[in-house]
Parts: sequence; structure tokens; C-alpha cells
Amino acid sequence: MKGLDIRKNDTVRVMAGRDKGKEGRVLEVEPRQNRLYVEHVNIIKRHTRPNPAKQIRGGILDKEGPIHVSNVALICGDCGPTRVQHRQTAEGKKVRVCAKCEQVLDR
Ligand SMILES: [Zn+2]
Repeated sequence: MKGLDIRKNDTVRVMAGRDKGKEGRVLEVEPRQNRLYVEHVNIIKRHTRPNPAKQIRGGILDKEGPIHVSNVALICGDCGPTRVQHRQTAEGKKVRVCAKCEQVLDR
């Protein structure tokens, strides 16, 4: 299985679509669908059924909807939105680097 270049808790910028230009933290990735959820991006109304056992009141909730991974770019602290390249460190560890300035983007 091919992994995505973007992972949970990354900060990304939306490059296309209704929320173009927004930036946010990645809440969840779905590698099999090539899509992810970004905080405050692609907000959809979700109708929820009340479930008193789980303290859910029901009604209409705002919730992040999925966006395709090709519509977002990882943000480099120096360059802004960038493409991701992969490198192997001297210790043999695989890391993600900025395609522009080549700094390591993994924390
Ligand atoms: Zn950079």
C-alpha cells in the first residue's frame, strides 16, 4: 500500500475548491481513499440522531467533510505550501523533506 505524503497533525493549505487558501491541521487521513479531514475546512451540516446514552443531543452539527489529498499542500515553515520529497537519513530513517529548501518536515 502506498502511503500518503500528508499525515495526521500536519498543517496544510487548501489549494483548490471552496475553501481554497485556508490552512489547518489535519485531523484524520484515509489513505485508502486518498482523502483527509482538515480542521475547519469543508464544513458540512450533519444531521444527528439524539442518543441520550452517549450524551448526544441530536440536530444539525457542523462537521469537517473529507477532501482529496491532491487539493492540499503541506506547509514548510520557510517556503509555505510545498511538494514533499522523501529522503533517507544517514541512520537509514525515512523522512519527508521540502521539495524547495530540502529541510526535514517530520517532527
Ligand atoms: Zn521549504
